[in-house]
Amino acid sequence: MSWFYVFIALCSITGFLHGMDRLAQQHRYWQGLPFLKQYSSRHPWARRNGAACCYKCGCDELLDVGLSRVGDYRRRIVCNQCRTPLWREEDEA
Ligand SMILES: [Zn+2]
Repeated sequence: MSWFYVFIALCSITGFLHGMDRLAQQHRYWQGLPFLKQYSSRHPWARRNGAACCYKCGCDELLDVGLSRVGDYRRRIVCNQCRTPLWREEDEA
């Protein structure tokens, strides 16, 4: 076994850990977003036609986006106009 293989092994371990860290960061970011109930009590004026809307620009066109992939159970609700992340939702697994 040469040092080359040791080097490759170390690189893949580092890459793996880096990927895990990125996923953990994403998850922490998602956990930092409020749920709809908390969002509505924080921004009670951010309502339009009886539904919650963007507290920044008042737009009521919202996007339901998966956190790390399209089918992710961790959903982010993002304003379609100013792209502000508004609240989070959790789909049934
Ligand atoms: Zn907006």
